[in-house]
Amino acid sequence: MPKLTIAIDGPAGSGKSSVARRVAAMLGYVYLDSGAMYRALALKALRQGASLNDEAGLETFTKETHIELKPPRPEQEAAGAKNGVFLDGREVTQEIRTPEVAQAASRLATIAGVRRVLVAEQQRAGAGGGVVMEGRDIGTVVFPNAELKIFLDASPEERAERRWKEHQEKGEKMTLAEVFDEVIERDRRDRERRVSPLVRAEDAVLVDNTAMGIEETARLIVMLAGDRQKQLAGVAGGNP
Ligand code: C5P
Repeated sequence: MPKLTIAIDGPAGSGKSSVARRVAAMLGYVYLDSGAMYRALALKALRQGASLNDEAGLETFTKETHIELKPPRPEQEAAGAKNGVFLDGREVTQEIRTPEVAQAASRLATIAGVRRVLVAEQQRAGAGGGVVMEGRDIGTVVFPNAELKIFLDASPEERAERRWKEHQEKGEKMTLAEVFDEVIERDRRDRERRVSPLVRAEDAVLVDNTAMGIEETARLIVMLAGDRQKQLAGVAGGNP
């Protein structure tokens, strides 16, 4: 069976990371979290006090930054990490998971030059297939020819609650209302930005998982992947 490129896009809290990671594990594919790259870059910008408005400077800044995604160590995976994230050679897997970094990431993600550099890296990382990549523009920009595209969504209330539970588990004291506002603000910026906004690709399958768990959603996507593989094998073999 041919190995597919699977693109999973959707808003914050739609379950992309957990579902994509599970799909990759079930299929024996590589999992890549493109959002972690925007977050790692944002962490560096915050640490260095870089201006988030200096567009030309930020493209150079992005080119000079080395971000690497690796499979998580078992103890990291048990703690919920989906990729080990390395920024200029130093691990930042935990540090990038804060609301402050998420907001800065979504601001950097509005800058065309920043996206150009990161998209090229994502395309290099996913070249060759057998990959599940998740983000906001994977099916529209990074891999427009992906054999399977999923647009994952859930109600805003459900998405905020999922994020809130994650913060609770880490012992972070945020109210559900604060998390809701953070998620809605970030979604608005991601959907309304001029460059590569969060939209469903025309050929993406819409999966609303408001009332579905991670396992159920992952199984559905694995089933869709199997159908797609059969379809592609049929075309290659000359069957209708
Ligand atoms: O997926 P995650 O919440 O970690 O992404 C953080 C931010 O990075 C998003 O809010 C979005 O602004 C940006 N992002 C993006 N394109 C991607 C992945 C993430 O613009 N492919």
